[in-house]
Amino acid sequence: MSRRRTGKPQTDPIPREGLRDRFWERVPLANMAPKEWEALCDGCGKCCLNKLEDPDTAEIAFTDVACRLLDDETCRCAQYEIRKQFVPDCVVLTPANIAEIAYWMPQTCAYRLLFEGKALYDWHPLISGTAETVHEAGISMRGRTVSEFDVDEEEWEDHIIEEPV
Ligand code: SF4
Ligand code: SF4
Repeated sequence: MSRRRTGKPQTDPIPREGLRDRFWERVPLANMAPKEWEALCDGCGKCCLNKLEDPDTAEIAFTDVACRLLDDETCRCAQYEIRKQFVPDCVVLTPANIAEIAYWMPQTCAYRLLFEGKALYDWHPLISGTAETVHEAGISMRGRTVSEFDVDEEEWEDHIIEEPV
């Protein structure tokens, strides 16, 4: 098993004003403005969970063991701007690497959905108008994680969960 995790642009709240009207439905990922790309993140926190990948099948299993920098309450990175100092293997999701990363992103992740040609869910903040709908829909990891400080990596297999969808 190898571990997988990634990061994303995180400001809290994510600014979603001044964007092109329903850009996510008509602008290809590669053509989105940086602000639009950032606004796609729904703040679910699931990409900051440690995941296990079967080297033979490439099957991905989610655990509830969160990156040391994930704030379990906000589902945001506590030190996004300087996170690399603490978590060097945090991968920044970009239009250039989405193709190779999408398969191990959460099923409901907006970046993965759009990459796969699917629509965003109605609970997405861009559609609902509030980030709270992500939590209300039961999609986020709010209050559901344990810190990787508290669980040895050898025990992560005991923390495998079904992704909330
Ligand atoms: S460093 Fe921050 S963005 Fe990266 S995985 Fe950890 S919590 Fe997520
Ligand atoms: S899984 Fe996708 S939508 Fe959810 S926090 Fe990570 S980047 Fe944002």
